[in-house]
Amino acid sequence: MKTLDFSALARQNIRSLTAYEAKEIPCNVKLDANESPYAPNLAIDPALIARLNRYPDPQGAALKNALAKEFRVNCSTLLLGNGSDEIILNIITAFGGPVLYPVPTFSMYGIISQTVGVQGIGIPLQRDFSLDRKKMIAAIRKLQPQLVFLSSPNNPTGNTFSRTDIEDILRVTSGLVVVDEAYQPFSSQRSFVPDLAKYRNLAVLRTFSKIGLAALRLGYLIADPGLIAEVNKVRLPYNVNSLSQALALDAMRRKAEMKASVKNIVAERKRLAKELRSVRGITAFPSEANFILLQVADAEGVYKKLIDTGVLVRYLGSAISNTLRVTIGTPEENAAFFAALKNILKERS
Ligand code: PMP
Repeated sequence: MKTLDFSALARQNIRSLTAYEAKEIPCNVKLDANESPYAPNLAIDPALIARLNRYPDPQGAALKNALAKEFRVNCSTLLLGNGSDEIILNIITAFGGPVLYPVPTFSMYGIISQTVGVQGIGIPLQRDFSLDRKKMIAAIRKLQPQLVFLSSPNNPTGNTFSRTDIEDILRVTSGLVVVDEAYQPFSSQRSFVPDLAKYRNLAVLRTFSKIGLAALRLGYLIADPGLIAEVNKVRLPYNVNSLSQALALDAMRRKAEMKASVKNIVAERKRLAKELRSVRGITAFPSEANFILLQVADAEGVYKKLIDTGVLVRYLGSAISNTLRVTIGTPEENAAFFAALKNILKERS
C-alpha cells in the first residue's frame, strides 16, 4: 500500500502545531493541573440515567437559569461550553484575529489561534507580571485586534491585573475583550461581570473546573446577547452533556459547601506561600489563584526529584525561567510537597 504523508495533507497552520499533551505522570500528590483537591458531594438522579438514550437539552436552560440568578443577568447573556477551552475555540472561530494576549498566559489562546489559522500576538508582561499597559495599548492601536484575552488572575503567574489597566484596554479596543475569570473565585479582586453593563465589548469567561468539577468539562461565557448570538452560531449542538448539566446544577444548590472549599484553598494558599517564603532559595510570587508560582535554581531538576518522591507539580520550561507552578491541595498534600521540596533543596546546598 502506498504510504500517505498525512502531515502534508493537513492545513498549513496545523502542520506546525504540536498536540497539547496533558501528561499523565503517576504520582501520590497531584498538584500540577490547578484542580481542586475537593470534589463536592453530588448525587445523580436515576431518572437521568434512564434518559441517556435522549440528547441533552441543547440550550442547557435549567443550568442557565441558575447561573442567571447567581450573577443577576439575563439568560440571553449566557453560553455554555464543554469546558471554557471550547468557548475560547468558539469565540476565536466566530470573531477571528488578530488575537492579542499578554505572555506568559494560558497557552490555549495562542494554540487555538493557530488552530483556527489567525494571528496570535503575545505582549510580554512586566517583570512583576503586571500588564505592560503602554505596550498593550500601543499594540491594540496599531494591530487592531479582533480579540484581546486577559486571564485575571493570570495562569501561570497567579496575579490579577490592575482593574484600571483592564478598563483602559476595554476603552481602546474596537474589537472584543475577553476577561477569563477561571480563577476569580480565589481572588480578592471583584469580578468583571457587573461591568458588562458598562462595556459592550466585554465578555467574561468562567468555569466549574477549578472549584471542584474539572471532570464535568463545563465553562460559561457571560456577555452582551448580540455577542452571545454570534458565538452560538459556531457552538456545536448538544456540546454539554446531560450529566454535566445536572451535576453542575446540583453543585450550584450546594453553595455553602462550594464556598467553604474555595475558602479552605485560599487559606492554604496563604499558609503555603508564607512557608515557602521562609526558605532561602525559593521565591514565591504573590498569588490570587489556586496555585503558586515559585522560582528555584535548577527548577527542572527539582521538578524531577519531586516526581521521584511522588509529588507532581508543573515545570514551566522556557515560559519563565526556573519556575514551578504548584496547585494548592489539601493541607496534607501541601505539607508533603513542602517537606519534599525542602529536602531536595537541602541536599543541594
Ligand atoms: N482559562 C484559564 C486561564 C485556565 O487556566 C484554564 C485551565 N487550565 C482554562 C481557561 C480552561 O478551563 P476548562 O476548559 O477546564 O474550563
